[in-house]
Amino acid sequence: MRNLVIIGSGPAGLTAAIYAARANLSPLLIEGWQSGGQLTTTTEVENYPGFAKGIMGPELMKEMRAQAERFGTEFLTGDVSAVSFKNHPLTLTIDDERTVQAKTVIIATGASAIPIGLPNEKRLTGHGVSTCATCDGFFFRGKELIVVGGGDSAMEEATFLTKFATKVSIVHRRDKLRASKIMQDRAMKNEKIAFSWNSVVEDVLGQDVVTGVRLRNVVTGKISELACAGVFVAIGHRPNTALFAGQIDMDEKGYIRTHAGTATSIPGVFAAGDVQDSLYRQAVTAAGSGCMAAIDAERFLESSEG
Ligand code: NAP
Repeated sequence: MRNLVIIGSGPAGLTAAIYAARANLSPLLIEGWQSGGQLTTTTEVENYPGFAKGIMGPELMKEMRAQAERFGTEFLTGDVSAVSFKNHPLTLTIDDERTVQAKTVIIATGASAIPIGLPNEKRLTGHGVSTCATCDGFFFRGKELIVVGGGDSAMEEATFLTKFATKVSIVHRRDKLRASKIMQDRAMKNEKIAFSWNSVVEDVLGQDVVTGVRLRNVVTGKISELACAGVFVAIGHRPNTALFAGQIDMDEKGYIRTHAGTATSIPGVFAAGDVQDSLYRQAVTAAGSGCMAAIDAERFLESSEG
């Protein structure tokens, strides 16, 4: 029986582990087969406090993992394939093979940006293809960019990117935006933003870095190429919560609902990071909520044992 099992090895999970390990909870952290979370797919991280010269995303995650290990976090590599939170002890099944029982669980499974689904999009991620303007916009000073999507995220990313880019083309699959009026107006009034309506990205072009996109007009069928140095995909995020469906309270988009800090609808189960945050989605906010979850778990254990 474990005091605490943490699911997820991004900034939220690892920060929870650092705090829990230092509080002598001997946490077990289950890291998926692709350890380290979304930061492992980015290049340089310049907005994480404490690194004045910036740090590469994978390096930052390696440091966080080493810090969690130093205080005694135990790591288990595998994917949690099932959970049973209906009764205590909480039970987790890993890779359909072994089960672990726990008094408390912190869910820090993150969220995944929804990709368009093109092979070259995947290949050039981190080399011009990005899903985070806040993280990567700075690298495109003086360049032309495209943003894919027609929702608030796409408007927000495009508007933000005009701080750096000379031109931002929003590629949207319809001739009407989904974004709220205010966000639409802001983008439409921005002289650096252009729109490619009724268009989808057929392919991302470039050998080592992005040089453009091939577009298809879904009404006329016309194929065209648009030169750009970066492609920002903003067609939505998906929280990684399929595993918990039916067991834990979630909002209509599948984000875990938290209250009183990081508590979920199940006593002893806490959620931290992007899995419960559709708004900020930053490494530092994820780390902050990981710290909160560890403190919440520690207090839960104290009160249930005391
Ligand atoms: P969203 O509202 O779901 O919009 C996704 C957009 O991507 C839609 O325009 C959609 O097209 C398009 N899309 C979806 N799949 C696509 C595909 N396979 N290929 C091409 N285009 C595709 O997602 P979001 O913009 O990330 O916003 C999520 C939530 O966060 C919303 O509730 C939003 O209001 C909120 N948000 C708020 C703010 C803010 O207020 N500051 C900022 C960001 C997000 P269709 O329109 O044709 O479906």
